[in-house]
Amino acid sequence: MYIDTHCHLDSKKYKENLDTIITNALNLGVQKIIIPGADINDLPYAAQIAEKYSGVFFASGIHPTEIGDFDCNMQAKIKDILSNPKCIAIGEIGLDYHYFDSNNCDDIKLAQERAFRYQIELAISNNLPIIIHTRDSNDDVIRILKDYESDIIGLVFHCFGGDKTLVNALSCPTYFGIGGVVSFKNAQSLRDCLQELPLESLILETDAPYLAPMPHRGKINTPEYIPIIATHLGETLCLDLEIIATNTTNNALKLFKI
Ligand SMILES: [Zn+2]
Ligand SMILES: [Zn+2]
Repeated sequence: MYIDTHCHLDSKKYKENLDTIITNALNLGVQKIIIPGADINDLPYAAQIAEKYSGVFFASGIHPTEIGDFDCNMQAKIKDILSNPKCIAIGEIGLDYHYFDSNNCDDIKLAQERAFRYQIELAISNNLPIIIHTRDSNDDVIRILKDYESDIIGLVFHCFGGDKTLVNALSCPTYFGIGGVVSFKNAQSLRDCLQELPLESLILETDAPYLAPMPHRGKINTPEYIPIIATHLGETLCLDLEIIATNTTNNALKLFKI
């Protein structure tokens, strides 16, 4: 059995064939799938998918590039949906400095930090784990999380790329989301870093529809590719597929309590 801990099933790319994708994933052993929150307008649809399929869960939260002015209306929407029993985490939240020059855009950075802190505090007050998105912003993400580390019940650095800044940085339970990147030719630093991480800290994700693993790189990703990602991880760690499947699934169950 596998769990896809990060899959944007609410993407428009799946609108027409959602049923088939979920059934195919199930048939390949991907029994649970978590939809992370990204755009506030898609949250109700993510909740609707989770309500329809027993193995699908979702997280509430806004991606750092989607926060807009992060007003009260937005905050209320993130908060209200937490009462849905299929909502099992806060995320994906964090910082993303990839799309602007971070040396002269302090206002954007401050806005992202404000939304990030609000949502971390929401996770803590609701006893929920956190799905972290960080891109070109690892130092600031750790600086902010340090303020809360003793109160966070668990978090995952999703789409982990092998940056050691994120390893052993926090005292709270920390997991690393391993996806298609592990199969990319240019990801040797990730594969090297993985040798040093305990198996108990690894969980699987597709981040579909993005980042399809080899040999599907560049095409639309789907949760059906989780066993391919698991195979690449097994080759990287010289471990049987069975061991990868059992351990990553148990780790995900422990973090998300699903
Ligand atoms: Zn992300
Ligand atoms: Zn994502």
